[in-house]
Amino acid sequence: MKQQTAAIRTQVPRTGEMEHSTPMFLTSSFCFDNAEDMRAAFADETDDNIYSRFSNPNVNEFVDKMVALEGTEAGYATASGMSAVFASFMALLKKGDHLLSCNSIFGSTHTLLTKYLPKYGIDVTYVSADKPEEWEAAIRENTKMIYLETPTNPGLDIIDLEWIGKLSRKHNLILNVDNCFATPVCQRPVEFGADLIVHSATKWIDGQGRVLGGVICGKESLIHDIYLFCRSSGPALSPFNAWVLSKSLETLDVRMERHAKNALHIAQELEKHPAINWLRYPFLPSHPQHAIAKKQMVNGGGIVCFELKGGLEAGKTFLNNLKMLSLTANLGDTRSIASHPASTTHAKLTEAERLAVNITPGLIRISVGLEHVEDILGDILKALEKV
Ligand SMILES: *Cc1c(COP(=O)(O)O)cnc(C)c1O
Repeated sequence: MKQQTAAIRTQVPRTGEMEHSTPMFLTSSFCFDNAEDMRAAFADETDDNIYSRFSNPNVNEFVDKMVALEGTEAGYATASGMSAVFASFMALLKKGDHLLSCNSIFGSTHTLLTKYLPKYGIDVTYVSADKPEEWEAAIRENTKMIYLETPTNPGLDIIDLEWIGKLSRKHNLILNVDNCFATPVCQRPVEFGADLIVHSATKWIDGQGRVLGGVICGKESLIHDIYLFCRSSGPALSPFNAWVLSKSLETLDVRMERHAKNALHIAQELEKHPAINWLRYPFLPSHPQHAIAKKQMVNGGGIVCFELKGGLEAGKTFLNNLKMLSLTANLGDTRSIASHPASTTHAKLTEAERLAVNITPGLIRISVGLEHVEDILGDILKALEKV
């Protein structure tokens, strides 16, 4: 089955009602006919559902679709993107291990790596997403995992997955890729040697800003360890959220195609705007890693970022003059969203820390939605007149 078909036709078996659309299985546990069946399920001799912290039909359907989309052997779904990221560290790393990460990563992941992993004796080194030479030099005897995002948030740096896949194989490391910004219909890290792919399903996968969710796809052996950790620590995805997310996957491909088409148009139209210093979109030839983006991505995704010449004040003025775009902490929605990292998500960092991850005072991130592209562009242009 092709990705688009698998996202639509992967379904849990019909119940006796012969429903066409998968119903919601809002149940915390599952029954057995007899003691022998129950024993066999607990002994892992069957795939029967036991308890919704371990597995649930709606969650299984969502995971099966994600596994088909990412092209991996197995998967496990969690309550949020952060619980997926956290579980991938806690299940596979131990005291004395070293993890290598790119410096521009999602804020809460940065907090986990900086504040919490060291408490458990796990060392972390950050390298620059745009400086490949730093990566191999930072690998140590005890390095166990490479963790990265591409495109990065919010700067849209692109890391060469083929190159990093070879590097991690050479040093026998687990390559763990947060594929949230691209989604599996735009980029499949497993084809370049990734061992694990983590997602915040809250973003493009839900695509309508309704529920939180996360998922980890990857090698069977690694996913089994993650499953055992999650089964005991409890970050299970709710069946309701899984039902919503599984439905969302049916339209992921068509949605992402339009998000990317709108984003490319907006990037092209804004690139030479007099209020803008520079603009980044992976599929614009002006992007510093444009050739790598073309090699590993189907389209440029739905995020555009640019820097306003007027800096911090211009950033706030721009947000205040938008009439349609939402000011909200999410991304990957049908509704277009604008954010100004320096005054919001990254306000707690020092200016130097922000600059180290390419967050300049006037940086604006647009999550391009599915409204008519002329309405999105019109709102942005009007707000730019005021900065
Ligand atoms: C939002 C996000 C996360 C965290 O996901 P939640 O669902 O909010 O927990 C992780 N990585 C990236 C790239 C994100 O954008």
